[in-house]
Order: sequence, then structure tokens, then C-alpha cells
Amino acid sequence: MKVISYGGGVQSTALLVLAAQGHIDFRTFLFANVGDDSEHPATLAYIAEHAAAYAARAGIDLVQLHRTRRDGSTETLWQRLTKPDVRSIPIPVRMANGAPGRRSCTADFKIKVVGRWLRNHGATALEPATVGIGISLDEIHRANKRRREDHEVIEYPLLDLGLRRTDCIQIIEDAGLPVPPKSSCFFCPFRTVGAWREQRREEPQLFAKSVYLERVINDRRAAIGRDAAYLTRYGRPLEEAITGAASAGPSSGEGDGSCDSGWCMT
Ligand code: SF4
Repeated sequence: MKVISYGGGVQSTALLVLAAQGHIDFRTFLFANVGDDSEHPATLAYIAEHAAAYAARAGIDLVQLHRTRRDGSTETLWQRLTKPDVRSIPIPVRMANGAPGRRSCTADFKIKVVGRWLRNHGATALEPATVGIGISLDEIHRANKRRREDHEVIEYPLLDLGLRRTDCIQIIEDAGLPVPPKSSCFFCPFRTVGAWREQRREEPQLFAKSVYLERVINDRRAAIGRDAAYLTRYGRPLEEAITGAASAGPSSGEGDGSCDSGWCMT
């Protein structure tokens, strides 16, 4: 069994085109959707309006997966984050010094979701599934060959082909598809300061939701005696840290490539 862990961004979409053109041998693309209320709406729109139809025309299965609870109901990352009785914060919120905390969102809402689908479809430790991830040459530091779970072996087809992000954009454009937006949760603490500024300027409703989420997280942390945590690296609330066009501080070294598992932002 061979699948691509499809993130909805540039690299994943290039893999979709390469598969459709027969350059790579993957016919199943799994998109672990962390929630329609959590993924960036532009990514979901791109998949609905472009990627799904393209995949269907090429005979490729583009399957959307969701995290399910034991009772079978679906849980989104936003729901988890805003649940009143949850103590640990699954996303990599930043401490006052700007360092991101540990996260479980990628594992719980992506890796395990894909892993369960693979197990349910026959992958075992003896016959593991191959999972391709869209990491390009310029993000090689994000690649990590270790097996995620016993029944999976990870491959990086873009690295094998020596392709960079700019090559991916060319591949997508040559296929007649629009270039997809960067994919990630709209509130991800790994967003660059530039991306936050753009959100405040261009997507005020999403920015307001991010501000709300940061407050919810901190209200909960305060209630259990913990210090504040933030969605940016600046050690202060989003509304103060991101002031539109004005600089909130240095932006270098803060990369959205930091989502290093390779399962987000590809
Ligand atoms: S994009 Fe960020 S918040 Fe969303 S699952 Fe990945 S690391 Fe977590």
C-alpha cells in the first residue's frame, strides 16, 4: 500500500500532479483535515475547488480523514482547544521567551489519523504501508526518515526527485492549476510574523478568532496557576504583538518550516 500524506499546500499539490502524470507511483492521497474550523479556509477551498476535481480526473483517490473519538464522533482541533475542561494545550504555544512548547496536535490530528486509516486498510508491521510526504529540497531539514509507526515506512518523493519549492510551483502551473496557499491551521503558533500581519490586514475575522483563542488558552492557564502563553514569539498578546504594517520585532529565524514532522504545511 502506498499513500501520500497530503497537506493541501504547494509540495503536496506538486505530488498530486506528479502522480497524475505518472512520474511517481502513488494513487491514494490522504488529507487529515484537522477541522473545517481549524484549517485555513483557503486551503479547504483550494481542495474543494481544484485539487479534488483534478485528482478525480486523474483517477486518484483524494480521501479526507478526520479525527474520531471512541464513540465515533468527530473532534476538531479547535473543539479540543476550546473545550472547557482540557488542561494541556495541544498546539505549540510559545512561552514568554518565544520558545514553542511541546505539541500533540500533529500526532493526534494527523499522524494517528492517517495511521489508523492505514491499519484499517491492511497495513501491518510485517507489511507496512509506504507513506510519501511532500518535503522539498529546500526544506530537507524537516525530513526525518524514522518510521512513524510500526506499520508505516516514510518516503520523500520530492527529495528523491531533487525538487525544490520553486520547481513544485512550476509543476503546478504547468498542469494548469492555480498555486495553492500555504497550508496550516490559521492559528498555528509556527506562523511567521509576516503571515500574522497579513491575517490581521486581510482576514480580520480569522485574526479575531486567533485573538479569542489565545485568550481562552490563557484564561485556562491562569485558572490552574500557569503563566501566560502566546501564539507569537513576542511574549505578549496577539493584538499587541501584531500591529498591522508596523514591525512587532525581528522576523528572521521564525519559520513556518518549523512544523518539522512533515505532516503540516506541505
Ligand atoms: S499547523 Fe500548527 S497547529 Fe495545526 S496541526 Fe500543525 S503544528 Fe498543530
